[in-house]
Amino acid sequence: THFQSLYTVGQASKVDSKQKIRDGLKSASGLWSKVVGLLSKSGLSQEDRDEIEEYLFAADVGPKMVDELLGEFDQMVQKENFDVKLELSGFLKGKLLKVQADKKEMASDGLKVIMIVGVNGAGKTTTIGKLATQFKAEGKKVVVGACDTFRAAAVEQLETWCQRAGVEMIKASEGANPTGVAYDTVEKAKQSGADICLIDTAGRLHTAKNLMAELKKTKEVMSKVVPDAPHEVWLVIDAITGQNALRQAEEFHTTLNLTSLIFTKCDGSSKAGSALGIVDKLQVPIRYIGVGENVEDLTHFDVDSYVTGLIG
Ligand code: GDP
Ligand code: MG
Repeated sequence: THFQSLYTVGQASKVDSKQKIRDGLKSASGLWSKVVGLLSKSGLSQEDRDEIEEYLFAADVGPKMVDELLGEFDQMVQKENFDVKLELSGFLKGKLLKVQADKKEMASDGLKVIMIVGVNGAGKTTTIGKLATQFKAEGKKVVVGACDTFRAAAVEQLETWCQRAGVEMIKASEGANPTGVAYDTVEKAKQSGADICLIDTAGRLHTAKNLMAELKKTKEVMSKVVPDAPHEVWLVIDAITGQNALRQAEEFHTTLNLTSLIFTKCDGSSKAGSALGIVDKLQVPIRYIGVGENVEDLTHFDVDSYVTGLIG
């Protein structure tokens, strides 16, 4: 089906991906509807507030945002014709749009180097395969670097995606230094006049500390070839991870200064609701969401459909 999907690039049904997002938000939206129910009562008891807090924590919304929400809610109720769903949607959209507005549109001229990071299994390689295919379909020249040199299988997996996409991939022998591969890839991209350079990275080393130090070096070496590279650092987050994802994201952000987030596995019975808490905490925008394993299953993040999926 991977091969079939290649030929349907650009024809992916929008309705289908919206439905998948709604499905992915099902568990979170169940919790939010309980919150809406409680907020609709006239006058909140302390018990109600505690219950709301519990539901929101379960939906991976952090304590800071819960406090803000309850605080603003006390103001909201004063309004005439107060509509809980409308006010709540407005609150969440406002939170997300404020961050999303920081998302830089990528300039259409010149080489853009994009470093993709995230823990093992988050979906980095798959996302790079999807991105390479989509950029290529837009007529861009793409060069991909296989910097997850930790596992031979990781290079093979990326190679398969790149062959299907018809884009060049730079690799080194197993166990080679990832910084060297990153250097070679950016150099190749520069020399060949590429538009997009995607750098795949490892998600696991002996310790998390080693991983962060190595990713930092990998990031820094690229600027020796192209002064402002990497232009983007995108963190891939498995939406199913929940609360743990926030801690991971904070660590990556501290070390690498992330420019965007990509949430994968928002299809199926995932916990895509956690995106809200992470965006609010990090103040880093979401660029794409992954809604499946096929090449067309990567769509731009849309605040309206996301909040509608949560609140209805
Ligand atoms: P990496 O270790 O971060 O490179 O992760 P991979 O790209 O190897 O992905 C790990 C697994 O997650 C693979 O089986 C992928 O097919 C799967 N995967 C990646 N993105 C998605 C997604 O959006 N939805 C679903 N359902 N599976 C995904
Ligand atoms: Mg990988």
